Amino acid sequence: MSISVNNTQNVNLNTQLPQSSKVDFRASSTHTLPNDTVEISTKKKKTLLTIGGIITAVTVAIYGVKKFQVKNIKNIQRAFQESFMRDDITVEETRKILKRYKEIEKIKDDKEYAKALFKEAKKNFGLEQSNIELVFKDVKNANGSCSRTNREIKITPNCSRSHMLDTIHHEFRHAKQHNAIYNLYPEEYLGVRAIVDSYAEKMMDKNIKLEDINIEELWAKALKEFKEKGIDLTNKKNKARMEFYKEPLEKSFVKETVPDKYKEWAEKCKDGARNYVSQDKNFVDCWNNFTEVDARFAGRKMSKYIKSKAFTPSDWASDIYMKIRTFFAHKENT
Ligand SMILES: [Zn+2]
Repeated sequence: MSISVNNTQNVNLNTQLPQSSKVDFRASSTHTLPNDTVEISTKKKKTLLTIGGIITAVTVAIYGVKKFQVKNIKNIQRAFQESFMRDDITVEETRKILKRYKEIEKIKDDKEYAKALFKEAKKNFGLEQSNIELVFKDVKNANGSCSRTNREIKITPNCSRSHMLDTIHHEFRHAKQHNAIYNLYPEEYLGVRAIVDSYAEKMMDKNIKLEDINIEELWAKALKEFKEKGIDLTNKKNKARMEFYKEPLEKSFVKETVPDKYKEWAEKCKDGARNYVSQDKNFVDCWNNFTEVDARFAGRKMSKYIKSKAFTPSDWASDIYMKIRTFFAHKENT
């Protein structure tokens, strides 16, 4: 009957103790038969509840993950159209693009993976004719950068694989911004490029090394100067510079008609470039610059739809952190 009580105790119980003591003893024991029955049925209930709970949780999780992963193809189509700024992408094309990205995700070698992504993004952004190149080179405080002339996209060699997809599309979105501005205002772009060159030359005359020159700030300065004064073409040097840069720009940019719906966006990009401050000087302003907000949105959107996982926790964390920083930065200014 009893499991834990030994034989001698059993004998004692049955032969020597009065009935009431027996009952008392049984009541205080945890191993008596009636209690065991109650315990087993409670255990069964608990087990059933646990199994039920697990099944429900797994079902909900699978449903959730599926719903999250297998996004309506129309949503993906819209994401591609918005990120690549190409309304011509059909559902059929969306499927093909998605399939190609899934194949690229299988590439094990990180550099080969980056190269394949670069090639794919270049095509999808409609920049296949551009001679823009992928360069693995350290970028200060960032995973990548795109030169204003679309000559090259730099990727920091130790950019983590999980950020590669986002980074390459982020940088290509910058390339698309530059391309649109160039197509809307080719003369201005050439003029600004010439002014940048004159600034850089002056700085190098002062023995400042080219790699120490903040090119983004030079562009911002040149854009402002162009807006205020234009470019003096009676100046022979300026004229020569414009001649010199015409051909390279025509090779790195792709001729395209900027759709009406993107003209306002291109204007905002131009303003963004004009007001650009390097992140070393003002991290908050840089983070909130239109060109950065726009590129970040495109890069993350691609990550979300291709990898079927939305923003990574670190992205969320940095967003919240920057919102707080922006809030306090504004408070300080007012
Ligand atoms: Zn950027």
